[in-house]
Amino acid sequence: MIESIRVVGAGGRVGSTVSARLAERGIRLDEDEPELVLLCVPDRAIAEVAAEIAPGPWVAHVSGATPLAALDPHARRVGMHPLLSFSKTRGPEQLDGGWAAVTAEGDDARAVGVWLAETLGLEPFELADSRRAAYHAGAAVASNYLVTLRQAAGSLLEVADVPPEALDSLMRGVIENGFELTGPIARGDWETVARHLHVIQRERPELEELYLALAEATAKIAGRELPSNSLLLGAEGRGTKVCRTIAELRGALADRRRGSIGLVPTMGSLHEGHLSLLRAARSECDTVVMSLFVNPTQFGDEDDLARYPRNEERDLELAREAGVDLVFAPTLEEMYPPGFQTWVEVTELGSILEGELRPGHFRGVATIVLKLFAIVRPARAYFGQKDAQQAEVIRRVIRDLALEVELRVLPIVRDADGLALSSRNALLSSEERERALVLSRALGTRDLQKARALLADSNGLVVDYVEVASFDPPVLAGAVRVGSTRLIDNVPLEGEPTP
Ligand code: AMP
Repeated sequence: MIESIRVVGAGGRVGSTVSARLAERGIRLDEDEPELVLLCVPDRAIAEVAAEIAPGPWVAHVSGATPLAALDPHARRVGMHPLLSFSKTRGPEQLDGGWAAVTAEGDDARAVGVWLAETLGLEPFELADSRRAAYHAGAAVASNYLVTLRQAAGSLLEVADVPPEALDSLMRGVIENGFELTGPIARGDWETVARHLHVIQRERPELEELYLALAEATAKIAGRELPSNSLLLGAEGRGTKVCRTIAELRGALADRRRGSIGLVPTMGSLHEGHLSLLRAARSECDTVVMSLFVNPTQFGDEDDLARYPRNEERDLELAREAGVDLVFAPTLEEMYPPGFQTWVEVTELGSILEGELRPGHFRGVATIVLKLFAIVRPARAYFGQKDAQQAEVIRRVIRDLALEVELRVLPIVRDADGLALSSRNALLSSEERERALVLSRALGTRDLQKARALLADSNGLVVDYVEVASFDPPVLAGAVRVGSTRLIDNVPLEGEPTP
């Protein structure tokens, strides 16, 4: 069909391979007036080189990304892109069995493109000029990113002191076996995937994001759902990080914001009540943040603050066991820097019951909780029904200030004898603890008059209040002082009774 071709760029990778094959096929390559000029030049040079060619011969380029318009002003033009990667160390045999995209605007041009491809030993297929971007993106993913994958995989083999070249026969095998998916994700073996993630985090943290993105895409192919990052890592017991500053916590949260964040605010001295909140957060959120801060502004009385039990080491151990990802244990100055003067006041709800007896208490609670919300930006925040009025105050803050936080309030956890668990229970002597039991018994009647009567009869207890509070749900709530320790408790009057 065509007997003479001038290859422009014959010294390059594609140009030299193509020239060698054309010579093998008996095509004349050195004529001054060839029938076809084949541009094997870099993409950005095509338009300039094409413009310099005198009209007459067919003009073709071998680029996958470049539209035919780059060959203006030539009307006899065609694109023929070998979908191959070329190496200068190999000869024309590297063309054998390859595919080639032919882009043509008419039958004559198509015939030239098909002829050229077949003469080179390629299998032609048609590519519309307008679909080049998708075609080329696919080609780049398959060829260039394979290099990226080999690099990433090789760097992991180096961690194991294994030569990266060992991967090559594996990679070839995957292609030769028709891209059949095998391995841990195909099997749903998440423990193995978790082990991969652990070593990557430790040795090659720069690969974590790539590994996760590929794992997610691979799970889709396998028809499985990849467990969330934290569940995966939890399978081997991930470390709990302790952050002392706001900046440190924000930094640690930065790459976790794609998933859901749960916040459990505590003042420490953890017991089963706190742990129930942590467990709920662990099962519902990708990342669990527990704050550990004895907030001075919610204590009215200095002695009470000084006496509040503290045991950070034990708390951190329990947080670790409960699968907490981040513990935020800030200093006083971090939460109340010098000059601090911004307060959140829930005016009515914050001044009844507990608020009446402890003026300023809920102002301290609402302020610190809002600050924690601003720092952590949780999807969900976990509170105990034990502090029913506190939960109600936070609900009000969330509503009034239109915060995007889901409030989760969990039932009261009690000891076998009915006493609601509280960090303050540690301050009771055994005799005081015995006397304190009347509070839960009285509230357990779910009857205001009976409860008041029972408490009036109990010797040595000072009753601060026993009231029905119209919270959500309504509760029978009470506060008593036993010796120098103040205890609060409540029983919901609607919905599930607290066991
Ligand atoms: P605290 O450390 O006392 O500020 O309590 C932290 C969170 O744990 C609060 O939301 C409390 O309501 C909750 N909490 C405390 N005691 C219990 C309990 N016995 N049962 C359920 N939640 C509790």
